[in-house]
Amino acid sequence: MKKLGRNDPCWCGSHKKYKQCHMALDDKLRLLSMRGEEIPSHAMIRNAEQIEKIRESAKINTAVLDEVSKHIHVGMTTQEIDDIVYAFTTSHGAIPAPLNYEGFPKSVCTSVNNEICHGIPSDQVILKEGDIVNVDVSTIYNGYYSDASRMFCIGKVSPEAKRLVDVTKECLYKGIETVRPFSHIGDIGAAIEAHAKANGYSVVVEFVGHGVGIDFHEDPMVPHYGVAGTGMVLVPGMTFTIEPMINQGTASLYIDRENNWTSYTSDGKLSAQWEHMLLVTEDGYEILSK
Ligand SMILES: [Zn+2]
Repeated sequence: MKKLGRNDPCWCGSHKKYKQCHMALDDKLRLLSMRGEEIPSHAMIRNAEQIEKIRESAKINTAVLDEVSKHIHVGMTTQEIDDIVYAFTTSHGAIPAPLNYEGFPKSVCTSVNNEICHGIPSDQVILKEGDIVNVDVSTIYNGYYSDASRMFCIGKVSPEAKRLVDVTKECLYKGIETVRPFSHIGDIGAAIEAHAKANGYSVVVEFVGHGVGIDFHEDPMVPHYGVAGTGMVLVPGMTFTIEPMINQGTASLYIDRENNWTSYTSDGKLSAQWEHMLLVTEDGYEILSK
């Protein structure tokens, strides 16, 4: 950690004096680090101006999901979801973050039934009565990133599918409720894993939540399993996703050999996912996008 003078401008870019900004936090983190705790880097801590920009991006991201929820219905194709996301996002002066990201061909991920994540919208995939689908939306606005996903039940779904969707959302909220300054990332995963297992489900380990805001995928990684009291300490100004993928059967998965994106449950059983984007505040958390 670079040694700054008390009256130097703070490293966070706030233009405040260090002593009136992040000095007390740095002192506390230095102490925690000496005790063996894993602490966040400065790059993971956003200033007030950045948070406001990220919040604006996140508002559009939530509005995109609201727009999808208004129009999703039995008989539509996942390509039509992609069309809605692209049109709504761009008409609000924003960019769909997935489009052309590392070669991803569409504006949104649509993952149906046994697809865990990174399903690619297609005019060949028609949503039918009883399907469950995750729609994962990410937005760039004025250069700032946001990310959230929801499950949609298409028409009347089986009680088993409904229970998976509901318990997965409960898992997300169990994780969210642990978030506050100086809690640990392991608290999030431990809460999620306990609730999933208590319901007879498994937790996907290959995909994790992540820092987001300045870039699409940043540190820290946020696993949806773990041990309470372990992992990185959270501090105000961090922005990241929690996005548990919960499976009916085995946690094991495989990736589509043709598109190299879509992941599926190995046993063909259902998978569900809910994702919110969070800010750690001075006394807890704020949900930025959901
Ligand atoms: Zn500062």
